Amino acid sequence: MTKAEIRFPLDGRARKMFVDGAWVEARSGKVFETRNPATGEVIGRVPRGEAADISVAVAAARRAFVGPWSRFKPFERQALLLRIADLFEKHWEEISQSDTADMGMPIARTRANKLRVIGMLRYYAGMATALHGQTVDNSLPGDIVSFTRKEPIGVVGAIIPWNAPTAASVWKIGPALATGCTIVLKPSEEAPLTPLLIADLMNEAGVPPGVVNVVTGTGVEAGAPLAEHPDVDKIVFTGSTATGQAIIRASAGNLKRVSLELGGKSPVIVCADADLDKAVPIAAMAAFANSGQICIAGSRLFVERKIHDELVERLGKFASALKIGDGADPTTEIGPLVSQRQLDKVEGFLQSGREEGAKVVAGGRRVREGNLAKGNFVEPTVFAGVSDDMQIARDEIFGPVISALPFDTLDEAVERANATPYGLAAGVFTRDVSKAHVISRSLRAGSVWVNTYHALDPAMPFGGYKMSGYGREGGTEHLDEYLHTKGVWIKL
Ligand code: NAD
Repeated sequence: MTKAEIRFPLDGRARKMFVDGAWVEARSGKVFETRNPATGEVIGRVPRGEAADISVAVAAARRAFVGPWSRFKPFERQALLLRIADLFEKHWEEISQSDTADMGMPIARTRANKLRVIGMLRYYAGMATALHGQTVDNSLPGDIVSFTRKEPIGVVGAIIPWNAPTAASVWKIGPALATGCTIVLKPSEEAPLTPLLIADLMNEAGVPPGVVNVVTGTGVEAGAPLAEHPDVDKIVFTGSTATGQAIIRASAGNLKRVSLELGGKSPVIVCADADLDKAVPIAAMAAFANSGQICIAGSRLFVERKIHDELVERLGKFASALKIGDGADPTTEIGPLVSQRQLDKVEGFLQSGREEGAKVVAGGRRVREGNLAKGNFVEPTVFAGVSDDMQIARDEIFGPVISALPFDTLDEAVERANATPYGLAAGVFTRDVSKAHVISRSLRAGSVWVNTYHALDPAMPFGGYKMSGYGREGGTEHLDEYLHTKGVWIKL
């Protein structure tokens, strides 16, 4: 990547946010800093948007929705999404570096996400011309034709977390553009830079003013006013369960539609017949990928008792061999946690695990050696001797921590796996196809992976059961989240 190709150098300079097709400061003039969690360096100063900025963006989104954007034909929206996808392809290296610098994700991972994220944009481009209602035979007397129409829901407010800024932005903006909605995106204050870069690419692709707006700011100052705003028709939210509950309450004022992708405490069940050579690295990375800062992290590892000790030992060796470092190094496997706050939280869990009597098999502490002392690094950790009631086995840690829990029967494993308020994802390792079917059917989770983990595809629905949220992203269900279905009756 040459200097000329870098749109947004990560050197601490001031940025603006993108509203109504223009780059603007917060009306208050306030800014906040965003830091590289591997080095502690300030890499950007970003407008601290508030309610007034949200209102301006929502008004712009409404004007665009009823105005020029409503006249875009499906094939024009499709062409626009394809142009955006091409620009993502061209600028993927800068997108990768931006995510790595802003939230610590290893560059090997941000680079590898390219196909999936660009695939999402192309998938939604395809869907833009595949939206249709139905004609419905009715039983009324007389000659009355009835049919349904799919119509865009309107102005969408999107609030996203910091752990995958690019994918989260695309999962909101892609379906909004495909369906003809307009959108105000509020990135996390922990990782606002890539969404601004994405806004720039949208602008270059020719997205009309007001169709995509990105307002940076904190959850309380910018997120809450977006969730409450009376002229927002729908909130799509990804983040913690507690914030999701606050959003539902805030949405009550105008009964806006809400879809929620929330937290998890995902179980992974390893049966004694599993191929352990394959299961160990996958089960380990189910919990450690992105330093455990993934909503689907497989952090509760249920292991059939007869292989428990062997599996735990192998996991411990695997964890200890992982390379911890600055995400910018392409050989790094475990990057930093996003912030000091997250580091404190994860250290608190490590301490509680020890205090409650769990045994540290690998890791278990913050990294304080050499250059890594400047960043928020934690060793990938395996706890054994964990019981289901310990805090580390109950709460979402959002750090690289596995709790190994032995089980004796499959019924017991499934019952314990389901004994959580969450239901986002689950994993199973077995060579027995019958067990694979029975267990995957019995697990109360939105995604179940057998002999693999993390498989995601734009054509497959993703979302939660129970307190992991509702609504689906991916698949045809996703577009329905952005659409109204209207019934039309015509007396002939
Ligand atoms: P968070 O809930 O603290 O913040 C998420 C977003 O909500 C941020 O943009 C934040 O500014 C905003 N926000 C905070 N308070 C708000 C309020 N009162 N009103 C409106 N907006 C508000 O979550 P986080 O710490 O950024 O992310 C971690 C959480 O996200 C974890 O619980 C994780 O499981 C979850 N997550 C879920 C998925 C999924 O697809 N299910 C994906 C990624 C992350």
